[in-house]
Amino acid sequence: MTPPVALGIDLGGTNCRGGLVDGDGHLRLRAEMSTDASNNFLPRFESFCYQLINQAGAADLAVSHIGVGVPGVVDGHGRVLNAPNLPALHGVELAHLLRERFGLPVQVGNDVDAITAGEARCGAGRHSADFLVIALGTGVGGGLLLQRRVWRGPVASTVEIGHVIVEPDGRLCGCGHRGCLEAYASGPGLVHSVELAGLRGEIGCLSLSAGITGPMVASAAQHGDVVARVAFAEAGRHLGTVIAGVINLLGLKTVIFAGSGATNLDLLRPTLEHTCRDALFPGTPLPELVAAELGADAGIIGAALGAFGDDGFL
Ligand SMILES: [Zn+2]
Repeated sequence: MTPPVALGIDLGGTNCRGGLVDGDGHLRLRAEMSTDASNNFLPRFESFCYQLINQAGAADLAVSHIGVGVPGVVDGHGRVLNAPNLPALHGVELAHLLRERFGLPVQVGNDVDAITAGEARCGAGRHSADFLVIALGTGVGGGLLLQRRVWRGPVASTVEIGHVIVEPDGRLCGCGHRGCLEAYASGPGLVHSVELAGLRGEIGCLSLSAGITGPMVASAAQHGDVVARVAFAEAGRHLGTVIAGVINLLGLKTVIFAGSGATNLDLLRPTLEHTCRDALFPGTPLPELVAAELGADAGIIGAALGAFGDDGFL
């Protein structure tokens, strides 16, 4: 008899990634669909799950559990309290709904918590008892592993590291506050930096482009564009300040960068390390700054492995 696999789902604001994962964390099959939240999302999501479960049957694999990582706040019963990038999920009792639909045990949690669990089990954090995860992409998310457990606040809170204020009265953030880390270090934050440089007359290769995206800024910076590199340097400075604050508070030795922005760690590293070193309590070593080893699959693997357990992602 083939060993059971769990269906792991990493729900993003743009894409939904899913896969079948065995108990050792090996991804046996993966699929992806566009999230397109405005268009009948829940029925499309259910049929996406159905497809993967059917494919498992065709491959002689038995799905025994379902785990889902959601970009937002989820309570202990798998109800989505808040998902700014996926409004169709607001208030949805997702764990209950999937349990009813598929008759399988279901775990639903925050997406960066799933990445944190995945990296802890079989990624860059497998040898660490404690580490911080920073997920860089459309937003800036956080996850904390403390004493081999994914940390959660008492009220289903997530590690909102992107909304630590780095510039009092600074840029307006999507959360309504001013000066949050996310307003500088997310993809849209980097775009904003390039646009502001243009208004100051600092001309780079993207200055006359319309519809600039975070990946375009990254590509320009990798090709040596000075304006784009300055945007990354600024993001690195703010990340360094926040990371030093977390290290001063918790004494962690490792920071794992996840999300699409993790591939640009080299662009952030010089100013990040410099600022972090300056802000650390004297004598505290600079933490190890590494990219997530499971890459884009960390959320799928973490959600699936978490589903095998019965007390959350780890
Ligand atoms: Zn904010």
